[in-house]
Amino acid sequence: MKAVVITGAQQCELADKPQPIAKDEWVVVEIEAAPMCTEVQLYRKGEHTDWLGHEAAGRVAEVARPGKVKVGDRVVVMPHFGCGRCELCLSGEHIHCRQGLSPRGSVGPTVGIATYAQFCSKQDWLLVPVPEDISIEHASMACCGLGPTFNAMQRMNVTATDTVLISGLGAVGLGGVINAVLRGARVIALEGHPYRAELGRSLGVERVIDPADPDKLKIIQDLTGGRGVDKSVETSSAETAAGFLVQAARPMGQVASVGWGGPMLARELVGKGLTVHGVWHWNHFRDTPAMMQTIRRSRALLDKFITHRFPMSQVRDAWELQMTGQCGKVILDPRQ
Ligand SMILES: [Zn+2]
Ligand SMILES: [Zn+2]
Repeated sequence: MKAVVITGAQQCELADKPQPIAKDEWVVVEIEAAPMCTEVQLYRKGEHTDWLGHEAAGRVAEVARPGKVKVGDRVVVMPHFGCGRCELCLSGEHIHCRQGLSPRGSVGPTVGIATYAQFCSKQDWLLVPVPEDISIEHASMACCGLGPTFNAMQRMNVTATDTVLISGLGAVGLGGVINAVLRGARVIALEGHPYRAELGRSLGVERVIDPADPDKLKIIQDLTGGRGVDKSVETSSAETAAGFLVQAARPMGQVASVGWGGPMLARELVGKGLTVHGVWHWNHFRDTPAMMQTIRRSRALLDKFITHRFPMSQVRDAWELQMTGQCGKVILDPRQ
């Protein structure tokens, strides 16, 4: 099968790799949509990895035994590889599994881990069925497009009475706008890139503030009648972003970080009685119906959010576009 490999700084090519094989609970999925995420940073630096891509949706192509899916099923491929047996996996938190399951040992050397490839391999219980009325492309937004911020909003119980601040309008933050807007919340955002600020506004952000603006805290206080925001989500991974969300929060508010940036401020956390959530990804199967309903009801917004599609053979063009920031979510099609 074909898979993308990085061959140097801003250099890449399609390489021939062995196709994964179904074994035990591991099934093979033919990838029809591979949403692009942070891999652009590897492309920029020229870092080689066997794990290129972690988001995918497609069709089950091969199973080794009867199980939770059958050949032809349309599925979203969940991130990570839980053991399926520890207390974290059994409680729906497979993403935090510490049992060290190695997909390499299970499916052969490096085969099937990447999603910038025609096929991938996954345990059958980590495949989410896609309802008939949802396209594969929209379903693939259940990965990082909508997933991490969906989980953040679920944890904070974001509703129509909330003012939500989203830090960063990259592909994760823009998905956060959709999740918040769909819940009826008032949304304000921090973003400096003009294209992304405009895309955020078109998705329903009331006010986009430049994070470089020295008056940003005052602007937020003015927008909230001096209270601060009810709930916020950090998606930028910028060093000072999470600390700023603590400053911008109202007393007894909530802050979630999906980004992996710098410190929060304990003094203000305690003084305001804030609740903080560390959120990696959406991985709760009990929330699958709510996720699919989110996708159904945000179709028009998703069609704005997904700004570009590329055949996998043109992955270089896709990465070059991502480096300009002039895009929302970008999808690779490994069938072309
Ligand atoms: Zn586990
Ligand atoms: Zn991702």
